[in-house]
Amino acid sequence: MIIHVDMDAFYASVEQRDRPELEGKPIIVGGSPDQRGVVAAANYAVRQFGVHSAMPSSTARRLCPHAIFLPARLDYYAQISDQIREIFHRFTPLVEPLSLDEAFLDVSGSEQLFGTAESVGRKIKEAIGRELNLIASVGIAPNKFLAKIASDLEKPDGFVQVDPRGVQAFLDSLPVERLWGVGRQTSKVFQKLGVRTICQLRALPLSVLTSHFGSHGEHLSKLAHGIDNRPVVPDRKAKSISNETTFATDIDDQESLRAWLLELTEQVARRLRRHALRGRTVEIKVRFADFQTITRSRKLPEPTNSTQALWEQANALLSTRLPSDHLPVRLLGMGVTEIDRTGVTQQQLFDEADRERQDGLDEVGDQIRDRYGSKALSRGSTLKHDARHRPKPT
Ligand SMILES: [Mg+2]
Repeated sequence: MIIHVDMDAFYASVEQRDRPELEGKPIIVGGSPDQRGVVAAANYAVRQFGVHSAMPSSTARRLCPHAIFLPARLDYYAQISDQIREIFHRFTPLVEPLSLDEAFLDVSGSEQLFGTAESVGRKIKEAIGRELNLIASVGIAPNKFLAKIASDLEKPDGFVQVDPRGVQAFLDSLPVERLWGVGRQTSKVFQKLGVRTICQLRALPLSVLTSHFGSHGEHLSKLAHGIDNRPVVPDRKAKSISNETTFATDIDDQESLRAWLLELTEQVARRLRRHALRGRTVEIKVRFADFQTITRSRKLPEPTNSTQALWEQANALLSTRLPSDHLPVRLLGMGVTEIDRTGVTQQQLFDEADRERQDGLDEVGDQIRDRYGSKALSRGSTLKHDARHRPKPT
């Protein structure tokens, strides 16, 4: 079974979540109406005025003059998207992201471990709500295109499962516009043909469809019959895994920077382990108060995903490779490149006993974080971790 997860009004919901004073107000994320901007996302309170994404912001303001316009924070949404993806990967490695806010998951092989597709879908929806305070709509079906229709059907906060034995009944009542690839042009042709529902489309002879739509006609016919054999294709090979944070106030002491770097390193190492990846080159990125940005990197003797091994390199870079008299830091990033998927290590970075101990520590740590959230465990508790630097909102 395939699960399609689609976040509701993602960018706008994130802004609303982070600023409770915006609750219930019409929010538009995107360019300013005064600068020929475009709507990137609109929450449900503003959609009822006819505002939708990709519309010029000036039009949106005309439709809803009291709408609140907020600039898009794409880097931040991408971080949250990573957190959502991490939840997906708890249940299956077969995750195909379509954008920052939606993905297909193939959970066919996960039933032994995690229960039925329905219960996995509920767990994912629940985890996104509880851990990230965001709402996802979920569609579950025997294939991708049905799952995508299902997730959209009862938005927002939808949960729709298509019974494999009831596919045709599910499809037949829907308007043809629900089919993937039926845009405005195709829809016009269907109107001329008197076809409104998928049931009516299915009744058309294939020759009629191909005469109007060429080879696309055959595709439409298959979809109308509920046939879609495209597999879920997991993330393309990652070239790098990284994480960065912009501080609420610039940091001018080395110990605070170290504490932040450790937190970023733990997150990156954890993502590597979750995806069974190892990285060969450790990189840090530092942006100073004057926006000058530098990166420094170090190559490891062999690829690793051990927090300890990555931290030693990152920490060495921070301690020895920054200009000696630098400005306060506004952004800190840590990443790993030269990603290796094989998981086979040639040489030994640590001696065997030490490595096993480290792997064991990482594994236990990951389990605890999975269960209790990422803040549940922190190494280096003696490190100074100043709350005033934490980017708001967290
Ligand atoms: Mg969405």
